[in-house]
Amino acid sequence: MSYVDEVYELVVAKNPAQPEFHQAVKEVLESLRVVIEADEEAYRKEALLERLTVPERIVQFRVPWVDDKGQVQVNNGFRVQFNSAIGPYKGGLRFHPSVNLGIIKFLGFEQIFKNSLTGLPIGGGKGGCDFDPKGKSDREVMAFCQSFMTELYRHIGADTDVPAGDIGVGGREIGFMFGQYKRIRNQYEGVLTGKGLTYGGSLARTEATGYGLLYLTEEMLKCNGKDIAGKTIAVSGAGNVAIYAIQKAQQLGAKPVTCSDSTGWIYDAEGIDVELLKEVKEVKRARLTEYAAARPSAEYHEKKAGEHGVWTVKCDIALPCATQNELDLEDAKALVANGCFAVAEGANMPTTLEATEYLQKNGVLFCPGKASNAGGVATSALEMSQNSERLSWTFEEVDSKLQQIMVNIFHNLDEASKKYGMEGDYVAGANIAGFLKVATAMKAQGVC
Ligand code: NDP
Repeated sequence: MSYVDEVYELVVAKNPAQPEFHQAVKEVLESLRVVIEADEEAYRKEALLERLTVPERIVQFRVPWVDDKGQVQVNNGFRVQFNSAIGPYKGGLRFHPSVNLGIIKFLGFEQIFKNSLTGLPIGGGKGGCDFDPKGKSDREVMAFCQSFMTELYRHIGADTDVPAGDIGVGGREIGFMFGQYKRIRNQYEGVLTGKGLTYGGSLARTEATGYGLLYLTEEMLKCNGKDIAGKTIAVSGAGNVAIYAIQKAQQLGAKPVTCSDSTGWIYDAEGIDVELLKEVKEVKRARLTEYAAARPSAEYHEKKAGEHGVWTVKCDIALPCATQNELDLEDAKALVANGCFAVAEGANMPTTLEATEYLQKNGVLFCPGKASNAGGVATSALEMSQNSERLSWTFEEVDSKLQQIMVNIFHNLDEASKKYGMEGDYVAGANIAGFLKVATAMKAQGVC
């Protein structure tokens, strides 16, 4: 059996009931097959793929806190420190009821390659908790965040592991966690990114993932003889990534016409009103029904099992920005039938393996999240640099660095896909380019 197949079987056997982790490993290993098989015995002797797929450290802990009724609640917290070959662990924290170890491992594994692709010195990690911030008071969220950090603080640090936000973790949660870290450690350091601007945050970090997604999409289109201006875009999600993707798409002259949350979706023929969307989601933390109520051109559709939501809308470009596995084979077929010619992932692994394959086979330009949503972590790394220098850069400085990083990422994966005979396969290009840097660093550092 080939080394790649052997390691994949091992991963499945040793990590039962973690389907998202298996899926992420399968996608990466399939892409690396051509690289590994060219020098199989050397990789096998070094057990490089086994080392790559086993996290350096997993921390799992209890998070007890008291709700507004005086009832004690208990949640499960995680931090997976996956790979530190090229820098301190870096990756977000997710607070969502669906969080479990397998999901954090899939996200941490993806993060290794994403961080490598940015060209910056950051290793891969991820964390989170099965806590649901929705419907909780600010005091409850603070009590939870303080308890979460009361355990997490001993495992992180500015030169060890620097978490950031993800689903359910925005400025409010980062602020509460930063305050608790500082209190316990008596140390003011850049231990988290995504901080507020008055206490060490970076301008443009809030916008970075969405903006970066559009910078990369624009470059991918340009290199394939297409222009983003005037194109209709279907976006899913209505959180941090989706909102700023919609905003930048409009600035580039495109027309995003959809967004969604976990209960329904919007089709707005006039184009999404991003200021209204921000008011509904960032300020009121309300449902999309409020957007529809305030906007005559908007149609609201309740989410129904078996229906395909935003992917049924006629569009040129699709940007899935909500969550994993939200775009399946049926959705991919609907997109192709409607003339969609490009998909770039804003979320992590939003497209199933079957859907990705279908899109690629049907000539759709497809960019995986580990490349197209890397703008968030790249700007987090820029926040770390500013914290180390004790300086703050202007919005324009950060934004122009972000733009350059996204353009470079696209060219790196494009070149890797060409070098290994898979021109236009940006999934393979991203996995190979991300892997080669990490593998070289791992080999140089000996068996560890
Ligand atoms: P947010 O919590 O800000 O927003 C998530 C959005 O997706 C919300 O609209 C939410 O709906 C919706 N959503 C979440 N889970 C589901 C679900 N199971 N079904 C349907 N809709 C869902 O998160 P972000 O925007 O930060 O993250 C979105 C994606 O982008 C994630 O995959 C994340 O890992 C990825 N990402 C984020 C980065 C960042 O910098 N924030 C960086 C790189 C990747 P509702 O409002 O109802 O909860």
